Amino acid sequence: MSAHRLYGDSCTPTSLSCFQTPRRIPYSEAVVQEFRPVRVGDTFGPTWETCWFRVELSIPPAWAGREVHFVWESDGEGMVWRDAQPVQGLTKEGEKTSYILTSSLKETEPHSLTLYVELACNGLFGAGKGSMIAPPDPDRRFTLSKAELVVFNRDVYELLVDLEILLDMAQLLGEENQRSFQALYAANQIVNVCDVKDPSTFPAARELAAAIFNQRNGESQHTIHAMGHCHIDSAWLWPYEETIRKCARSWVTVIRLMEHNPELTFACSQAQQFEWVRSWYPGLYAQIRDYVVKGQFIPIGGTWVEMDGNLPSGESMVRQFLQGQRFFQEQFGRICSEVLEPGYPKQTQVGVTLVFLFLFSQFWLPDTFGYSAQLPQLMSGCGIKRFLTQKLSWNLVNTFPHHTFFWEGIDGSRVLTHFPPGDSYGMHGRVEEMLKTVKNNKDKGRVNHSAVLFGFGDGGGGPTQNMLDRMKRMSDTDGLPRVQISTPDRLFSTLEKESSQLCTWVGELFLELHNGTYTTQAQIKKGNRECERILHDVEVLSTLAVAQGGTFQYPASQLQQLWRLLLLNQFHDVLPGSCIQLVVRDALQYYAEIRRAGARLQEEAVQSLCGELLQLKSGGAESTLVLNTLPWERTEVISRTGTAGTEALALVTAPSMGYAVVRESLLPPQSVAVIKQEDGSITMENGLIAVCLDAMGRLTSLRLAQSERESVANGCCANQFALFDDVPLYWDAWDVMDYHLETR
Ligand SMILES: [Zn+2]
Repeated sequence: MSAHRLYGDSCTPTSLSCFQTPRRIPYSEAVVQEFRPVRVGDTFGPTWETCWFRVELSIPPAWAGREVHFVWESDGEGMVWRDAQPVQGLTKEGEKTSYILTSSLKETEPHSLTLYVELACNGLFGAGKGSMIAPPDPDRRFTLSKAELVVFNRDVYELLVDLEILLDMAQLLGEENQRSFQALYAANQIVNVCDVKDPSTFPAARELAAAIFNQRNGESQHTIHAMGHCHIDSAWLWPYEETIRKCARSWVTVIRLMEHNPELTFACSQAQQFEWVRSWYPGLYAQIRDYVVKGQFIPIGGTWVEMDGNLPSGESMVRQFLQGQRFFQEQFGRICSEVLEPGYPKQTQVGVTLVFLFLFSQFWLPDTFGYSAQLPQLMSGCGIKRFLTQKLSWNLVNTFPHHTFFWEGIDGSRVLTHFPPGDSYGMHGRVEEMLKTVKNNKDKGRVNHSAVLFGFGDGGGGPTQNMLDRMKRMSDTDGLPRVQISTPDRLFSTLEKESSQLCTWVGELFLELHNGTYTTQAQIKKGNRECERILHDVEVLSTLAVAQGGTFQYPASQLQQLWRLLLLNQFHDVLPGSCIQLVVRDALQYYAEIRRAGARLQEEAVQSLCGELLQLKSGGAESTLVLNTLPWERTEVISRTGTAGTEALALVTAPSMGYAVVRESLLPPQSVAVIKQEDGSITMENGLIAVCLDAMGRLTSLRLAQSERESVANGCCANQFALFDDVPLYWDAWDVMDYHLETR
């Protein structure tokens, strides 16, 4: 009887052993280590360790003709390796516990094989203690609960999916819809017809379901463009290093799914993650490139990472696009196959231009905490006219009034924008989500199409066979929206065609949540801004040095590497400070690296640019060379070493993008007086303003020198620190709630 349930016969591995390490090491290093025997039921850990399992399997010859799976269930995130290649990601949380060995066992197939499972001791969402966003529990243990070969009964599985969809229709379509009754009736008939002990009854049961699924919609039905997706935060509740493995686990699983489902599309953003997989998993990367050529694995977004939408400078935002697009061009640049022979890689000027439009016409930023009003202009400048996000559905107070609209920036640039109305970037292809998508869509009278992004996300995971099989049954079923597997390009092209009635939103897309992220982890904010300035200065000085002629080489590749490091730290859980301590540590280290390398490059450029001046200086009197890397004249106070090595202040004027040699300080136009009083207070006057600070640093007086008018009211102070309680509802490092104002 058990043979006719979802899983039939099973058999345990002939041998199971493990090697454990605190480091994330390559396969070749792992498999030569000493493995010790382990058993199913054993626990492993602690958190962030890696366990490599060697699994010897022997498939019983009696299973000839059957579909055979290797089933692995454990708390951590697993990667199956076979013949030194990653072949399948397995995570129970991501509903992936099966590696399909064969869909029909043949005599000629090898019946004995060795697999390795690389198990990361962390979950999809890290290892938070008690709650997802709590700090990681350093002592978590991870249990191996299943490791076996099984016979998979696909006909039973298909029946289960049929029944699930029918029951969902019966429950969710509502009493006013006759389709809910029809679905319920069909489900009831299936139960009557189907004898679980007798597979010969299954086809009749499936026909009953098919009869319902094959009843078509009318022309007016809403169309859903479903796309596989896998949101992988480049670092969040896990460090950058783990993200590299998350990408590999998630994407290899997508490749396996594509082998069985040629219709599956997968929209994949963040050039940095492609670069990681390219460097660490070249075999997998080659397979991904094949599916990019086929148009199924779709690089999207055009930026280096999915960055924060508020805090990076305008220049950084441009660099996000520049570096992202440059990477995708180099890696996936190819000539359209209709025009010239397919062949890879082929790069001509024509091919690169074409692919630019093909790959990067959409900007993809589903999970960022608000969007600067500069972005439409920046996107347009980068050749991008389409934008997808959904985060504004998290607004705490006001519901955003549109799902499909034109977003207009400060300069009047407009981009066609779509928010998947299901309010998620990680759906599961369920009836409920499809109905919610149509119900929520506020613009369905204007344009009758919506996006659904399906696949486990945030910590990786991606789509599953089950999700695809659900949606296959909803492709055109009366009562349900039409669900088509689609691409971002197909969706936006359709929206563009029907865009004449769409509304326009002008200005910032402000997220009414997570406003604490503007200040959380101040060191990260400081590092970002400092490094933005350093890289700007290095570029300006190096450019001037090159323009001067001579032997100076522009440090293009070093600058690209430093920019990419800085752009990585602008990821939407790193720069906002919403990540765990391990990530903060890595981020600060990257800033230190940029500062170090930036200072060296700056020194080299300055030596080349001003070598002669510097020699003059060292040979002559005390003088200071002041460089101005900004495009306007500046008069500012600088600190320099005066006579006898003491620090002295000097007033300096330097021309735009030029330099000044300071031998003697300019005299301030007004004399400056700073007087410390006996009670610890300080008065300061510079001929223009006069201020008085008390011993606590509070401003007790502020007036124009020539005026008697006092700006600080009698008995009051300015420059006061005020303390408030900061107890958000849930997202502790993310939010500053409105009610804090009442807790002063
Ligand atoms: Zn995210």
